[in-house]
Amino acid sequence: MKTIDQISFSGKRALIRVDFNVPLDKDYNITDDNRMTAALPTIKKILKDGGAVILMSHLGRPKGGPEEKYSLKHLVPHLADLLGQHVEFADDCIGAAALAKSKALGSGEVLLLENLRFYKEEEKGDKDFAEKLSKLGDIYVNDAFGTAHRAHASTAVIAQFFPNAKFFGYLMAGELANAEKVLNGAVKPFTAIMGGAKVSDKIELIERLLDKVDNLIIGGGMAYTFAKAQGGNIGKSLVEADKLDLALSLIEKAKTKHVNLLLPTDSIIADNFSNDANTDKAQNDNIKDGWMGLDIGPDSIAAFTKVVEDSKTILWNGPMGVFEMEKFETGTKAIAEAVVKATEKGAFSLIGGGDSAAAVAKFNFTDEVSYVSTGGGALLEYMEGKELPGVKAIND
Ligand code: AMP
Repeated sequence: MKTIDQISFSGKRALIRVDFNVPLDKDYNITDDNRMTAALPTIKKILKDGGAVILMSHLGRPKGGPEEKYSLKHLVPHLADLLGQHVEFADDCIGAAALAKSKALGSGEVLLLENLRFYKEEEKGDKDFAEKLSKLGDIYVNDAFGTAHRAHASTAVIAQFFPNAKFFGYLMAGELANAEKVLNGAVKPFTAIMGGAKVSDKIELIERLLDKVDNLIIGGGMAYTFAKAQGGNIGKSLVEADKLDLALSLIEKAKTKHVNLLLPTDSIIADNFSNDANTDKAQNDNIKDGWMGLDIGPDSIAAFTKVVEDSKTILWNGPMGVFEMEKFETGTKAIAEAVVKATEKGAFSLIGGGDSAAAVAKFNFTDEVSYVSTGGGALLEYMEGKELPGVKAIND
């Protein structure tokens, strides 16, 4: 793997694609800076070598032109604090002024460019735009795992302008190594925990995992499609009516492949999708009309946590219920605790990004699991066996 450890950046300008797509409140305060801190090791290594750092990122979903609320200038003060040094800002990511600023950088200095997505060309993967960006650095570093599944100008297309000077940053390298560890080096018993809203988002991963795991736990909204497919009454719980056959075939496949498939047997149900709803317990195949399952129930928690605690490798993607509401967070929290216990006993636990990472953070367990991925979609696609454009572009 071509990582930044293989070269010295002394006297060079490193153009680094980072994922600084952080949430901001209405006063432009950063409410979660994980994505910024995750890129610090790469930035610091290059500065320590005596290189200059030019950072480029997207922020939010601008409509293709400059928008104040999506300006990366809001990140400058916090980035300067994190690095303990001045951060220069260019209010465009290409053009004469940005180029002049990048050329004026001295050894150990940092420049942050304005939002890449102020140009439609970024998401289109436009080659001319990528070439203009490429002028800003001598060496290209990709450390943006969260967007590695996109063939955008700054994440993939740009790499062709650095045929002999393109590298993975530490975050990218770490993400790939941890995903590989789970996919191809899992110590058994290997348990995958799948949850979240829809089975359709995760079918490909579930099918692939059936060839690898010992235990497959399915919870969250997606479990009701399985309950319905098996003839249960699920009230108005979440269901994908066109995926009932698929659910049955996954159950069959698990049997054939001798995978221990655990589906919830009971649920916490509610008469409303709200934290103020009336709640009750129910068997998963017998949910009252007009009620919906919003969390796994105590029997399911007991069965799931036992399996998780005895595992040596754990992959978790998707919450067990609507953990954002206190009334329905119990199942997700209990699973998180079981993952932490298994990790304490020596298991390797990889938490998929997105909602699972948010859940682990909500319960303050981020430092007690082995690795929390910064990529939601990117991690899913990598684990499904797809070649990520951002990874391919460096490897080619
Ligand atoms: P995903 O993005 O597919 O991982 O789905 C995560 C979302 O699924 C979270 O916002 C949860 O609130 C939601 N979710 C989990 N369980 C349920 C459920 N039983 N009913 C409705 N939504 C759920």
